[in-house]
Amino acid sequence: MTEKKNISKNKKTDVLPLKNTNKLWAEKIKTQRSKQPSINQFVEGIVSGDISFLSRAITLIESTNSEHQKKANEILERCLPYANNSIRIGITGVPGVGKSTFIEALGNHITALEKKVAVLAIDPSSSVNKGSILGDKTRMEQLVANPNAFIRPSPSGCSLGGVAQKTRESIILCEAAGFDTIIVETVGVGQSETAVHEMVDFFLLLKLAGAGDELQGIKRGIIEMADAIVINKADGDNEKNAKIAKTAFNRALHLYPPKETGWQPKVLTASALKNKGINPIYKMIEQYVSDTKHTGLFQKKRAKQNKYWLIETINQELKTSFFSNSKVQKQLQEEIKKVENGTSTPFNSAKKILPLL
Ligand code: GDP
Repeated sequence: MTEKKNISKNKKTDVLPLKNTNKLWAEKIKTQRSKQPSINQFVEGIVSGDISFLSRAITLIESTNSEHQKKANEILERCLPYANNSIRIGITGVPGVGKSTFIEALGNHITALEKKVAVLAIDPSSSVNKGSILGDKTRMEQLVANPNAFIRPSPSGCSLGGVAQKTRESIILCEAAGFDTIIVETVGVGQSETAVHEMVDFFLLLKLAGAGDELQGIKRGIIEMADAIVINKADGDNEKNAKIAKTAFNRALHLYPPKETGWQPKVLTASALKNKGINPIYKMIEQYVSDTKHTGLFQKKRAKQNKYWLIETINQELKTSFFSNSKVQKQLQEEIKKVENGTSTPFNSAKKILPLL
């Protein structure tokens, strides 16, 4: 009897009755929820330049939770009037060319001019090959510690279209937070360069000098997109080769039609490691911005990019809703069998599936 009494006494002190536990949980959840800032708090925090609000808002953009996405969209809408006031620079190049070393050097140069730099990345492979770009903490060590720099790895876990959209939205938030220079990095593979090219004002291609074969094995499309080619690692024994490469690229660039912005692409050499050639590169970008703003082609390019993303977003959404439609999925399986065994042509089968949405 005494033992029983003790147990029930202990129960009373150690374990709360169910009703109270639920109440406590409800309160805990409520405080946790209230810890998530309101839309107003987010917008005020971002516009005042608070990095933690900026980071958390980007996390909302990247979330797959529909509530988060809704909130992110409202924050974006409210931040739009504060955005657009920046130079957006795209940087591409094969792994090992020196992108992160270069971005660190350029970023430090820009912040020394009392400007604020945000570095974002587009790497559709980052979900497969974890952290292949910007994910590695050892990259850009100095810039990471720089209070006027904000570095965000590539959003992961979705298609290039999804990653690109999230990065574009992050650019708006970074601009609203007062970052006047936005650098978007991408690896020189697949379609990611096109995506980056369509969201930046100035597109820079990093290259290495080879032994006279600079123009071989380089995708023509990338050269066409570039506003500047920078031959990196122009130091030590490599300096002479870098100069040869510069002449070769300069000659090649003249064979391309002039750009709509009226800009004649330039070739420069640099050593990101030795911090050489960075100032002329930044001066060139400033020159580009001043020239194209003067002619109105800067804004025209941005307007054209907005049109590109409108069409691109519709394409993406149509594709997603088409392939997730159950009628389409069923018919598609049947038509695949038919085209495989030769009882239908791909064209006729497609014509049967397309009207199903
Ligand atoms: P990423 O893969 O394009 O980001 O290239 P990294 O910036 O990680 O650089 C790859 C390697 O090249 C590293 O060992 C760097 O130290 C080296 N590197 C980068 N820039 C230069 C440079 O200007 N000169 C020399 N000699 N090495 C460099």
